[in-house]
Amino acid sequence: MDKILLLAHTQTDGSLPKAAYESLNAALTLAADLGGAAVTVGLIGADVQAAADSIATCGAASILAVSGEDFAASRYSSDTVAVETLVKETAPTLVLAPTSSRFSRCLPGAAYRCDGRIETHITGIEVVDGAVQVQRWYYRQRMVASLSRVQRPWFLVIDSGVFEPWQGAAGSVDVQTLEVAIGDDCQRTKVLGVQTPDSDAQTIRPDAKLLFVAGAGWTKKQTDGQLHIKQAEELILGFINNSKASLGSSKSLVDQSSEGGEVISFMSHLNQVGQTGSTPRHLKGLATCCHGEEPHTVGWRFISERRAISLDPNCGWAQGKADVLYVADAFEVIAKINELLAGS
Ligand SMILES: Cc1cc2nc3c(=O)[nH]c(=O)nc-3n(C[C@H](O)[C@H](O)[C@H](O)COP(=O)(O)OP(=O)(O)OC[C@H]3O[C@@H](n4cnc5c(N)ncnc54)[C@H](O)[C@@H]3O)c2cc1C
Repeated sequence: MDKILLLAHTQTDGSLPKAAYESLNAALTLAADLGGAAVTVGLIGADVQAAADSIATCGAASILAVSGEDFAASRYSSDTVAVETLVKETAPTLVLAPTSSRFSRCLPGAAYRCDGRIETHITGIEVVDGAVQVQRWYYRQRMVASLSRVQRPWFLVIDSGVFEPWQGAAGSVDVQTLEVAIGDDCQRTKVLGVQTPDSDAQTIRPDAKLLFVAGAGWTKKQTDGQLHIKQAEELILGFINNSKASLGSSKSLVDQSSEGGEVISFMSHLNQVGQTGSTPRHLKGLATCCHGEEPHTVGWRFISERRAISLDPNCGWAQGKADVLYVADAFEVIAKINELLAGS
């Protein structure tokens, strides 16, 4: 009989990230599909009680924790030993965890220490003839594969936005805390603090409902024959800050910095969406001043509702890439939307 261990790290405020609730739902669904496999939750963080209480009614057989200041921050050595301890204590056949930079760093090492195998970027899990099969994409989201393995424990790291987050009443639960001795190797790396950009400068927001994509058209000569790059910056940033959308870009726009042209100052290659960029999973997407060529729109594969604003009625978005194309001047449309958003 399969046994499932669901791993989650708590955030600095003690809560669980949305991706953890999604993975919990994946674990519970898989357990049901396997005919009632037991699910154990393993929490890692400074203080995990609030997180455990938030999932009190999820039906997990038990909630275990590795907690304390040593496990507050992301650190390969302590995170790996925490996961190894949880796995050895619970002896699961399947270990599920949400994709996060923290788990992506420590889980491969933990899987090796547990003599397990690991699959990352999981976008689907099903049970076929009693065997677990997982899906993941290859070649920049162009080919999807179904995989199964016989080696256990099998670590499955689940991409965010694939499963609905688990929802249920909070309560009060007893958490079984495991003692984990931190060795000298853990002490070699000390976390002195965390530096993050101001929230206004943080334009990539995976949890946002809307992805706003800016294309190279923002930096091209407009109908008056002039460039309007400062105005473009203000409009884009105004929209992002007012709507709390996540900011994406076409390759042409972010490449301009290396080509020496005048650029949108807050845009970097991290914002690039597409074949050689990212494949975000926002519910809705709005492309502006972007042509909608295949290498760009392939990055929109997982965006459920797609809209675009372009001056060109024959652009790629009009060729079946978008649900709605507004043939309009994005400078005018976004200025108007910003006005409305600021007034609301
Ligand atoms: C191997 C390879 C990999 C690639 N990978 C990627 C990738 O990962 N991501 C990616 O994006 N591209 C990628 N590309 C490049 C891609 O093919 C396109 O060249 C790129 O997406 C074009 O960017 P763009 O649409 O912003 O610019 P453009 O093609 O210059 O289009 C600008 C658009 O803005 C419109 N416009 C101008 N002014 C306005 C206005 N005021 N209002 C409304 N619309 C306006 C114009 O009509 C035009 O349609 C790749 C290419 C190759 C060969």
